[in-house]
Amino acid sequence: MRFTPEQYKLKDIPNNNFIDIDELRSLLECESTAQKVDEVIVKALSKSRLTLAQVAILLNCAPEQRAKVLLAAQKLKQEVYGNRIVLFAPLYVGNYCSNCCTYCDFRADNVNANRKTLTPSELKLEVEALTDAGHKRLILVFGEHPIYSADFIAKTAREAYSVKKNNGEIRRVNINAAPLSVEDFKVVKGADIGTYQIFQETYDPQLYAKFHKSGKKADYQYRLTGLDRAMEAGIDDVGIGVLFGLGPWRTEVLALVRHTVHLEACFNVGPHTISFPRITQTQGAEGAPNPISDDDFMYAIAVLRLAVPYAGLILTARENPELRDKAIKYGVSQIDGGSKLDIGSYSKTDDEGTKQFKLNDDRPLSEVIDSLIDSDRLPSFCTACYRKGRTGEHFMEFSVPGFIKRFCTPNAILTLAEYLEDYATETTKINGYAIINRELEQLGEKATEVEQRIERIKSGERDLLY
Ligand code: SF4
Ligand code: SF4
Repeated sequence: MRFTPEQYKLKDIPNNNFIDIDELRSLLECESTAQKVDEVIVKALSKSRLTLAQVAILLNCAPEQRAKVLLAAQKLKQEVYGNRIVLFAPLYVGNYCSNCCTYCDFRADNVNANRKTLTPSELKLEVEALTDAGHKRLILVFGEHPIYSADFIAKTAREAYSVKKNNGEIRRVNINAAPLSVEDFKVVKGADIGTYQIFQETYDPQLYAKFHKSGKKADYQYRLTGLDRAMEAGIDDVGIGVLFGLGPWRTEVLALVRHTVHLEACFNVGPHTISFPRITQTQGAEGAPNPISDDDFMYAIAVLRLAVPYAGLILTARENPELRDKAIKYGVSQIDGGSKLDIGSYSKTDDEGTKQFKLNDDRPLSEVIDSLIDSDRLPSFCTACYRKGRTGEHFMEFSVPGFIKRFCTPNAILTLAEYLEDYATETTKINGYAIINRELEQLGEKATEVEQRIERIKSGERDLLY
């Protein structure tokens, strides 16, 4: 599955701009015949990495060719990820921001925004509320502001890890925050974070300048190379992303793959996750100049699945439940559940503050779990890899389909069993164990050992990770 992009290995240098937008556009001028699409599908299903030119062929294909690409993505998703779907929650820590992204209501010039940063005691209440629901994996989200320094981010991550209530605890804290210097990334790494996410929003430099007119975020290249500095600081688990709606979607998908290739070429490690939120209507903010339709959105997800099989694809509750369900089929491997965007709202009922965007899936985590189980999926709260040191090059070394059988499925089963014992209703418990039993039947020789661990969980032990 490893892809050594020799052409880019020679060309790409850490901390240099690697996006040549004209190169991406010219790749997208390719001819995409049915035969070429078939050839690319065969290659993707053999788990060979696609070149940028091959990804462009998929992106450009005629509408009547799309069905087979979607089918291939579905097949590859099932083979690589099985039935497991990883769950997390975003936790907005503070919405002060020095930037003026035109599409975001947290922008500095929005005088109507209610600004707030969680105090340590409020953070504790928020984390307790999330663990009471069953969460084990958080993304802490910060605006870009001097008060959210590296020390503050690291301190907040440590505080989140320190919260323990009954069997509840957060086992993996991911970060979504501003790009930092190498020194500052080292400070954050010291707090044992999981993934550090930085979304480029749009890779098109001209459009980027239009939407990010002031503040540090106006520096396209500083943001683009943010994860290079994270890697240099030893954070080898990073997440990339775009905000669909800003730039033409085909170019953005190709740019995400180009960013993947850059990280691989420079550090031998690709992104752990790829995110692709779509702009939704926000109060007073400019809308999306390049909206992406539901069909194109689904197709973009399928192409990303075929292009970067090892990366977790994240889809948040910005999207409605029906669309999220479909997206899981074609490639998404991580979703949030029970998300709330108002700062401090997990522990309070007051939900009237300024939000960064609107949610279209406001189901509590328990309903998301029930719905996944009803669709024969295996909800997972697994956080094992980074805690076992399987990150960066080490993570990339594993052959991904084998990885699922050896690690992902057993860990999904065990963390679901914990959820069923600690948080589920009787009905969810019955249905959840039925899914677990079905997965055990397909697990082969490891099944007996996993069954023994389930018994230990039923007797009160926790965190029996592989
Ligand atoms: Fe600030 Fe992020 Fe909103 Fe931009 S998108 S204004 S950086 S919070
Ligand atoms: Fe993710 Fe690793 Fe757990 Fe699989 S075993 S779900 S890759 S953390």
